[in-house]
Amino acid sequence: MENKFFHHALKVRDDQCIGCTHCMTVCPTEAIRVRNGKAVIIDDRCVDCGMCLRSCPVKAIHIEHDDFSRIFDFKQRIALVPSVLIGQFPEEISVTQIYSVLMELGFTAVYEVEHGVEILQHAMRRFMAQQGQSKPVISSFCPAVVRLIQVRFPALTENIMLLKPPLDIAAHHIKKLYTDQGIEGHEIGIFYITPCAAKIAAIKSPVGEERSPISGVINMDFIFNKIFRSIKQGGKNEACLLPEINPLTKEGVMWSLTHGEASQAQGRCLAIDEIHNVMDFLEKIENDEITDIDFLELRACDESCAGGVLAAANRFLTVERMKKRAKNQPSIHDQTAENHPQAISNYEQYLLQNISIEEVNPRSMLKLDEDMSEAMRKMNQRNKLMNVLPKVDCGACGAPGCQALAEDIVQGKAGIEQCFFIRNRQLTAGQLDMAGSTAIIQKIWGNKKLKNTD
Ligand code: SF4
Ligand code: SF4
Repeated sequence: MENKFFHHALKVRDDQCIGCTHCMTVCPTEAIRVRNGKAVIIDDRCVDCGMCLRSCPVKAIHIEHDDFSRIFDFKQRIALVPSVLIGQFPEEISVTQIYSVLMELGFTAVYEVEHGVEILQHAMRRFMAQQGQSKPVISSFCPAVVRLIQVRFPALTENIMLLKPPLDIAAHHIKKLYTDQGIEGHEIGIFYITPCAAKIAAIKSPVGEERSPISGVINMDFIFNKIFRSIKQGGKNEACLLPEINPLTKEGVMWSLTHGEASQAQGRCLAIDEIHNVMDFLEKIENDEITDIDFLELRACDESCAGGVLAAANRFLTVERMKKRAKNQPSIHDQTAENHPQAISNYEQYLLQNISIEEVNPRSMLKLDEDMSEAMRKMNQRNKLMNVLPKVDCGACGAPGCQALAEDIVQGKAGIEQCFFIRNRQLTAGQLDMAGSTAIIQKIWGNKKLKNTD
């Protein structure tokens, strides 16, 4: 069931990268190296948090999404939108206007992801009450956090809540709705409008399930620009054909914001956002410095999905708008399905039967080899190298720090002479000549920087 590969939506455009190392410095999992003067992302280490994209001064990192025209491969074209999309727009633009433009663009229906929250809430309570469940239960909502735990905190994978996030629940609901109406699976195209790269990665290579029911992913900034332009140009903005479902609840609107989940879970619940805060907290949990927590909501972005790297609007304004919207919505506790024949609660039994995900396996980046004895040997070798390397973490070797270089060396991906200090010693001792030294620098930094040309 576990996918053998990590799909990554973040790509470096070699022709634009100037090798400035900003991305390498900020990457929380040391997933970036500089080779030939360009940033290179190491797939096994990257968790798709998007920090590198934010830091790049020349926009050399981008997020690949599906071609929009792919929606027309399907007869039924459903835009699956997170409530944070609605929060991108100024208050004077209504939800109906936004939905209408999505329909004008070619979708045949619009559905908000957080309808899935109604089902998830029940399942969360049951999951947390299970005997023998490791505490704290860690939310599976943020795919960047799930991947971070897999690669950086493997011992905590057993704490991950083995339930699908609202996105997958909503997609399963849509599929069932349409197939119950006699529409065939190949005619149903579900396209998620994503605020971040991690959700793309999770859809293309899901953790804990074999395949996602989602057909494609479109970047939120791309759709935002299309909708905003259309509304500003006076496009059709009256009521449109909307699916007959309950209005989104207050809890649903708030779910993707910080405290959205933690405020609904039971026991002692904490919400932490921003990836460095998340890493600090997980380190403390791993070391038993923090105990007695029942539920942890962890989100990689500052202000959670409002701060997603593909969000077009200021995250604080988005949060303000979403809070205002939530005030006018019914509570999850007041919802009834009576007047809504397609309400998600009518599918509760079906969705609850399909809500679990498989155990999440560690994918430790700290593991230096698949073979345990070989991994131990390499670890010893790495520790010896650390006694030789200067521990200044200067980055001149093209790796983010001395330990990262030592790990690359024991895995045969780098040479010790890449270290400026070691190379200098080798030059002084006559073990390396100037031509050899120059060749090593070129391998890391390319020709341009040595020639001092742009
Ligand atoms: S997306 Fe995050 S983990 Fe991946 S390379 Fe960029 S900063 Fe590193
Ligand atoms: S931040 Fe990274 S990708 Fe952007 S120019 Fe600098 S090295 Fe290249």
